[in-house]
Amino acid sequence: MPLSSQNKNSPIISELRQDIITGDWVVIAKARAQKPENFKNPEEKNVILDKDNCPFCFPEKTEQKKDTLIYYRDDGEWSLRVFPNKFPAFTRESNIVRHYEEGPYFVMEGVGYHELIVPREHDKNLGQMSVEELAEMIDSFRSRYLDLMNRKSVNYIMIIHNHGKKAGASQPHPHCQLFAIPVVSPGVQLELKGSENYYKAHGQCVYCSILEWEKKENKRIIFENDAFAVITPYASRTAFEIWVLPKKHEPYFEKISSKNEFLLGEALGQAMRKLFFGLNNPSLNFYLHTAPCDGREYDRYHWHIEILPRTSIWAGFEMATGIEVSAVMPEDAAEFLKKI
Ligand SMILES: [Zn+2]
Ligand SMILES: [Zn+2]
Repeated sequence: MPLSSQNKNSPIISELRQDIITGDWVVIAKARAQKPENFKNPEEKNVILDKDNCPFCFPEKTEQKKDTLIYYRDDGEWSLRVFPNKFPAFTRESNIVRHYEEGPYFVMEGVGYHELIVPREHDKNLGQMSVEELAEMIDSFRSRYLDLMNRKSVNYIMIIHNHGKKAGASQPHPHCQLFAIPVVSPGVQLELKGSENYYKAHGQCVYCSILEWEKKENKRIIFENDAFAVITPYASRTAFEIWVLPKKHEPYFEKISSKNEFLLGEALGQAMRKLFFGLNNPSLNFYLHTAPCDGREYDRYHWHIEILPRTSIWAGFEMATGIEVSAVMPEDAAEFLKKI
């Protein structure tokens, strides 16, 4: 229908917003819009307090493999440890990734590393941890990243966090996971390509452009310090999606300074705390998107963390199209979270 023949009084019931990095679309359903308060987690808690049988509280009791990294408190007790997952999705069988054909199919061995990053406290989730504790966790990300990035067969290192049953967390004890794998995932490929294309068209990094605009508009920034900004992205894929971005252009997470580990701890902590208190401890996932470590240069990319609360279940439309229908405006989500 041409624009001119539209009834000017008919209300717009939804918006299709495009992610300018990946080209993906999302639907923001204004007519179905709900108050931010309605997204609160209805469950009593997301934490099971069964410390006695927790494999992460007592890794030595559970034939856990040797730590690859351990941090200690002033009293000599451990504060954070990193060890290989007992049930890895990828294993280090060899340094060579063999691949072969199987009829019309193609298969590659699941060679790689799968490690668990475990802070000490069983019942203190990331939204309750101090800046120092979060900075230590971020330091462990950097340290493990630097150790694994140059190994043969490792082309990408993905660090993720699952919290709550709906987000696929199998252990209630807070932890992150590191996957060092031979392939670069389609989601990251899209962002790399999008950053490259945007740079060619506009002569600037797309994430830097976004930050510049968000600062000017000041509708979707929920927290910032000297080095990091926390925003609800314009084309949020889920209600209350949050990104944590370095303010200065930087493609490679592993180059983070110790000072910025603290500032990232503060920014990530703020994001997690706002979700924890604002939405009553919702299930969520976050992951670190940084440039691949495959020996090529990715100067136009800009590393960041994406946090996706699990407030809805993907139904047929979402599965069929990859487009999520979000029932809260990112601007309203930002306003709500900013106040917390
Ligand atoms: Zn535990
Ligand atoms: Zn940038």
